[in-house]
Amino acid sequence: MAARISMKNPIAEIDGDEMTRVLWALIKEKLLLPFVDLKTEYFDLGLPNRDATNDEITVESAGAIQRLGVGVKCATITSNTARQSEYNLKNLHPSPNATIRAILDGTVFRRPITVSNVTPSVSTWKKPIVIGRHAYGDVYKAAEMIIPGKGKVELVYTDEQGKETRKTVADMKGPGIVQGIHNLDESIRSFARACFLYAIDEKLPVWFATKDTISKIYDGRFKEIFGEVYETEFKSKCEAAGISYFYTLIDDAVARVVKGEGGFLWACKNYDGDVMSDMVASAAGSLAMMTSVLVSPSGAVEYEAAHGTVQQHYYRWKKGEKTSTNPAALIFAWTGALAKRAELDDTPDLGAFAKKLEAAALQTIEEGTMTGDLARLAVPAAKQTLDSWAFIDAIAEKL
Ligand code: NAP
Ligand code: MG
Repeated sequence: MAARISMKNPIAEIDGDEMTRVLWALIKEKLLLPFVDLKTEYFDLGLPNRDATNDEITVESAGAIQRLGVGVKCATITSNTARQSEYNLKNLHPSPNATIRAILDGTVFRRPITVSNVTPSVSTWKKPIVIGRHAYGDVYKAAEMIIPGKGKVELVYTDEQGKETRKTVADMKGPGIVQGIHNLDESIRSFARACFLYAIDEKLPVWFATKDTISKIYDGRFKEIFGEVYETEFKSKCEAAGISYFYTLIDDAVARVVKGEGGFLWACKNYDGDVMSDMVASAAGSLAMMTSVLVSPSGAVEYEAAHGTVQQHYYRWKKGEKTSTNPAALIFAWTGALAKRAELDDTPDLGAFAKKLEAAALQTIEEGTMTGDLARLAVPAAKQTLDSWAFIDAIAEKL
């Protein structure tokens, strides 16, 4: 066997739960370890170990991503009362992704993995559309009130010296509702930085859209800060990378997205990102073909699959069934992390390996060999629908 590719620096490897944990081990055994002398710092975020460590392992893993600059994460169970009895947990722990995101202060980017035999429902889309979602504030941190009857609703800001500034929201003519939302300059700035860092990395033009014609101050501030960050910090870097920054109104953006051919990063305000990422994901094909990257303003990155632990497949696997669970997004989480490591360490062999593994996975699918979720969508019809084990063997063979 040829010598394995060596790594200069480790990546933070974050293991998880259920079917994705089973696939994680299989991907390492069949697709990574035979070719790469894998260097990782391993964190077991499987629910039993999070419980045993009172969730300290999650905090440690986030610190490792920050320190090493690159992490790869398996899907993890977010515990609830059903999981508490299933796993006999001492406590309910917060979502690991929320914990890690809070520590890294990150922005989440979701990108579909496209193959020629699964066509998007939007026929003009030729290249993937990546969504970058601002994950702080707006309606997700709102104060809301039911207004029982006639009266005045005001916004009141009290500064640290106690001085008040007021503005009338409405002179209510009868019962109704009111909502107060906010955002922070610094959070918007971090969001813009994360978007430009990601876009330069992936050589994607950046689109950003708000409704600043109507919301002149609130959305206007988003537009202004995004533009400032571009002009002062990223303009020359974007030009060097050959990518552009385009601002438009959100309704214009939606019309252009549906008529366009894709191939850009769509930076979205929190609510727009929530809605539009589900639209883009379902129009592009399957949840099992969507990757997710968390990018921190410091430049640290964490790669994962967008899907969960595929719980129902896991129960069937435990009963002895070889399920046809699609490992594509997990494989791409690994290749994303290895390629990033290669770039930071200047180890082109490792980068080339990541590209080859991706190509092997895509070719296997495009030649008609796939898992059940894709076989349901493929045109022309799948030649072979395999279980995860045989599918991963087919990719290894191609690789
Ligand atoms: P899920 O694991 O994403 O699965 C939902 C359904 O989508 C599956 O039942 C399956 O449909 C299909 N699917 C998802 N990934 C697939 C794959 N790789 N191959 C084939 N089919 C796939 O979501 P869930 O069942 O709602 O959540 C299960 C657990 O995951 C929960 O405990 C949740 O907390 C956790 N979760 C974790 C993350 C994360 O760590 N990033 C994200 C979301 C959810 P069929 O059954 O029709 O085959
Ligand atoms: Mg949503």
